[in-house]
Amino acid sequence: MPGSHDFIGLLSDADSLQLMLFACPDAVVATDRDDRVVLYTGASESMFGFAPIEVLHQPVRRLFATAEGYEHFRRQLVAEQHIVNLEVPAVRKDHPHFVGAFSAALLHDRFGEEMGTILYVRDHSKMRSIEEALRDNNHRLNELVRTLNHVAQHDQLTGMLHRGSAIETAEATLFGRNAPDSFGVALFDLDHFKGINDTYGHLVGDEVLASLAGVLKQTARQDDIIGRFGGEEFIAFLPGADLAKVAGFAERVRHAIGEARVHVDGDAETDISVTISAGVAAMPACAETLQDAIRVADDRLLEAKRAGRNRVVSTGSLFAERTAA
Ligand code: GH3
Ligand code: MG
Ligand code: MG
Repeated sequence: MPGSHDFIGLLSDADSLQLMLFACPDAVVATDRDDRVVLYTGASESMFGFAPIEVLHQPVRRLFATAEGYEHFRRQLVAEQHIVNLEVPAVRKDHPHFVGAFSAALLHDRFGEEMGTILYVRDHSKMRSIEEALRDNNHRLNELVRTLNHVAQHDQLTGMLHRGSAIETAEATLFGRNAPDSFGVALFDLDHFKGINDTYGHLVGDEVLASLAGVLKQTARQDDIIGRFGGEEFIAFLPGADLAKVAGFAERVRHAIGEARVHVDGDAETDISVTISAGVAAMPACAETLQDAIRVADDRLLEAKRAGRNRVVSTGSLFAERTAA
C-alpha cells in the first residue's frame, strides 16, 4: 500500500503522535505508572474545565467526581487491560458533575512493565438527559393513550362502559381462552324516568342516574361486565351465569335500586326513589349469539314494562319464538 510506511513512520514519531492526540475531539489524558497526569489535551481542558497547570503531574483521580467511580474504573481496567465507555461521574471545574464515558488502556513498555494509562473521555450527560427526557415523554404518552382509551370507552356521567365497549368486552370474554359454559345478559330500564326530569330538572335527573349506576356497580361482581346501554338503560353481562342466576342478579339490582334514596339538595330538599324493570336472557339456553341474547333480553324488558314495571322478566320472547319457528 503506497504511503503506509510513511504513516507507520509518523506513528512512531512522538511529536506527530501528540499532534494527533490533540486533534482528537474526545478528551485525551495519559498518566504515568503512578497514575499522575502527563498528557492533557485541549479537548480535556474544555471538558474538565481545569487548566493544564492544575492537572499535569497531579493524580488522575481528581478528574473523577467520586472515589467509588475512580475505584470502579481502576478495578475494571486492571482486570480487563482496557475498557470502553465506562460511565462514571466526572468533575467539571465550578460546574456540576457530568456523566463521563471513560475508555482506557494500560500502556506497557516492551518488557511488559506498566508505563501508565491512556484515557479517552466523552461527555454522555446530554445523551443521558435526552434518553431520560425520551423515557419521560414516552411515559407521559402512554398515560395519555391510557386516559384517551378510558375516556373513549366510558360514559362520563356514570363512569360505566359505553354500550359498544361493554359488548366488545363481553365478546372478548365469550371468545377468550376460558370461555364460560353459560353467559347471562340483563337489560335494565329505569321506570318513569322522564317524570324525574320533568319534576326536578335534567341536572337532578343526571345526579339520580349517576347514583343509581353506582348501586348497579356495587351489586355486580368483579367479573361481571356492566355498561350504560342508552339514556336510562343499563346492560349487564354475567360470565358463567345461567338463566336462573342472571334472573337472581337482576332481582337483587331491582331490590337495591328500589331501596336506594337519592338525596337532592336545593330549594326543595328531597329524597328521590326510583324503580327499575329488567329483561334477562342467557346463552346458550335462550340464544346462540350475544346479539340474539340481547334481543331476547330486550323483548323481556318490554314485557316487564307492559306488565306494570318494577319487575324482572325471564320467560317468553317474540324474537325467540320467531327464530325457533
Ligand atoms: P319507562 O318506564 O317507560 O321507561 O318510562 P321513562 O320515562 O323512563 O322512559 P322514556 O323513554 O319515556 O324516557 C326516558 C327519559 O330518560 C327521557 C330522557 O330525557 C331521560 N334521559 C335519558 N338520558 C338521560 C341523561 O343522561 N340525563 C337525564 N337527566 N335524563 C336522561
Ligand atoms: Mg328507556
Ligand atoms: Mg325508562
